[in-house]
Amino acid sequence: MIKNQDNFCILPWIHLYAEPNGDVYPCCTASPLPDMKPCVENLKDKTLEEVYHSDSWNKLRKDMMDGTRPEACTRCWRFDDAGGSSYRQYNNREFAKYYDLVDKTLPDGSLEDFHFKFLNLRHSIECNFACLTCGPEWSTGWNKYHKGPTNNTKLDNNSKVPIWDQIKPHLETADVIYFTGGEPLMMPDHYRTIDYLIQHGLTHLELRYNTNMSNLNLAKYNVVDKWKMFDKVVLGASIDAVGKRAELIRYGTNWEQLEANLLSVRGYDNIHLGIDSVISILNIDHIPEMQMYMEDKGIIDNSLICSYNIAFGPLEFCITSMPDDIKQRLADQLYDHLDNYKGKLTHPQWGYKQIVNFMMQENTWQHGLLKNQIDYRFKFVKDRLLNEVPLIRELYYYDG
Ligand code: SF4
Repeated sequence: MIKNQDNFCILPWIHLYAEPNGDVYPCCTASPLPDMKPCVENLKDKTLEEVYHSDSWNKLRKDMMDGTRPEACTRCWRFDDAGGSSYRQYNNREFAKYYDLVDKTLPDGSLEDFHFKFLNLRHSIECNFACLTCGPEWSTGWNKYHKGPTNNTKLDNNSKVPIWDQIKPHLETADVIYFTGGEPLMMPDHYRTIDYLIQHGLTHLELRYNTNMSNLNLAKYNVVDKWKMFDKVVLGASIDAVGKRAELIRYGTNWEQLEANLLSVRGYDNIHLGIDSVISILNIDHIPEMQMYMEDKGIIDNSLICSYNIAFGPLEFCITSMPDDIKQRLADQLYDHLDNYKGKLTHPQWGYKQIVNFMMQENTWQHGLLKNQIDYRFKFVKDRLLNEVPLIRELYYYDG
């Protein structure tokens, strides 16, 4: 039934990702890139069930079975082609037990039942940070730094039936509920959801997060006290740097507090900390330092999942957007570090290769773009970027 395992993903059978405005995508990685035709429906027009049975979702499943790469999944294909571990590969491993659903699928991609095993809940875009690789469309923390009107279509929620009401009936049979944001730990709706799960005896559900881990308390809630009640909690901590660099590029970070929070969740059998780093020109020169610091402090060890996600945007921060001579030097630096590294971590062995392959895949360097953006959009941190990030200073003044 599956013609090419390398171009297959199980998610369109078991998962949907809904944004606060009701847009629904096959997963969070399938959100669109510029000039890309996404696979998207909206809950203003359809229910979740209608989306699952829609022509576009059937076509997606058909393409997956036929071994044709859907354009909507461009991010995964780019990671796959860079020899890395894509979100597709990860989920195919995690949800391999649901491959039998493919056998129940008709050649046109349709199937009778409606299966949600993995639910991604993005309640809102509330966030306390203004990360430089993010923006006002995804974080309320950006509001005070954004120039010009904020046309935030992500908040325009007017769904046919509220998303939460549609998701509730599936909680009994789901395996995983995944909270993203904004910053989920800042959202009252997140706490209402986990209280609902506790009250309804659904603590067997695995909780998964993308979180900045900056604040483990909201009003009367301490999230660790809640997490202790669940069988399994998987944290993807968004850490791209340590110390001053972290405080600059994930703007709003207090590194001392963040480090204490990361250490505080180690030692619980049911809480699994992982590190999800976004790699950009803001930190590619800092990765070995970050990794060694966290290893020395006991924040990470070989039992943790550490993933490297490439920032596709803003384009001026993407690691493909550098002159070739600088890319080559950075690649050499990463490989030199691996040659001399005396620690115990194994993920850098494959992770650095993935980063370098991705960086070399294409060249999107546009002379003047980075300078313009730093002078305008990132003016609020311009001095710090030029003084504290040598690579940014070099690119800003690059004359080649
Ligand atoms: S192939 Fe990638 S982008 Fe497409 S649904 Fe699977 S994980 Fe998401």
